[in-house]
Amino acid sequence: MTDRGLAVGTGGFHIDPRGPVQRAVITHAHADHTCKGSRHYLAAREGSHILRTRLGNDASIQFLEYGESVEIDGCRLSLHPAGHILGSAQVRIEYRGHVTVFSGDYKIQPDPTCTPFELLRCNRFITESTFGLPIYRWDDPARVLEDIRAWWRSNQDAGRASVMFAYVLGKAQRILMGLDPSTGPVFTHGTVEEMNRRYRMSGVGLPNSLPVEKAAKKSDFARAFILAPPSARGTSWMSQLGECSTALASGWMRIRAAQRRRGVDRGFVLSDHADWPGLMDTIQATGAEEVCVAHGYVDPVVGMLREKGIDARPLEASLRKD
Ligand SMILES: [Zn+2]
Ligand SMILES: [Zn+2]
Repeated sequence: MTDRGLAVGTGGFHIDPRGPVQRAVITHAHADHTCKGSRHYLAAREGSHILRTRLGNDASIQFLEYGESVEIDGCRLSLHPAGHILGSAQVRIEYRGHVTVFSGDYKIQPDPTCTPFELLRCNRFITESTFGLPIYRWDDPARVLEDIRAWWRSNQDAGRASVMFAYVLGKAQRILMGLDPSTGPVFTHGTVEEMNRRYRMSGVGLPNSLPVEKAAKKSDFARAFILAPPSARGTSWMSQLGECSTALASGWMRIRAAQRRRGVDRGFVLSDHADWPGLMDTIQATGAEEVCVAHGYVDPVVGMLREKGIDARPLEASLRKD
């Protein structure tokens, strides 16, 4: 671990670095994992179209198929599906027969908008822990999506639009994929539509959607489902939609207080991360004799793993000064 993030081998490359480096391996295109300005990038081909929105068309990026390997600094490196969003990858690094896997963000639950998580056996597993508290347990996503469809229909009956706030990259597409297009029209905020476009370019068969701006003049949104980023809540952009019911889809909605704080009418618990049992099961299934925990509720996860007799520590504990 260095100030710039996780360095591998002699320091020739970093995984999801926090600043510009010589060679960056990017696990996925979410902003907190994708820092601009590095000389070269390595990422999974599945996410190529969405990664370009973050890094630009001029960035030097080498794309790998899942499972394809390259040699860097004497290490054999390959990327494997993490099931988090389109193109998300775990990084597998093999050095003299010793295998380290860096999970990146991952989820185990099914998601038709990306390749499912692949369980990798390894000696050392570096895991995220975004939802690493026992209270975070997800329901079956099929049921959550059913609830979302029912919420849309009941809003239609009441004559108001259904505005769903969701992360622009990943969550919005997962929800769109779960809608029944025969219910009514689906509209989007421009930022969501741009990602939808790139998902379609990547071969994901999303149902049709249209940016609100392109709707016919004096459109009636009362029957519509509208996907928007959480940042659109309370802005003037909302006023054109008429009377509406609002909702937010996120793992954080597990906590009622979080739902109140976000000021929405409904919260749907739908996450692109592993929940507590998912983290525990996955970590044990890797067979890793050493586990490093990062990116979230590090201490509760480390504590629980140690109780299970697993050699676990926070990734930050191995910080090395550059
Ligand atoms: Zn992410
Ligand atoms: Zn993340």
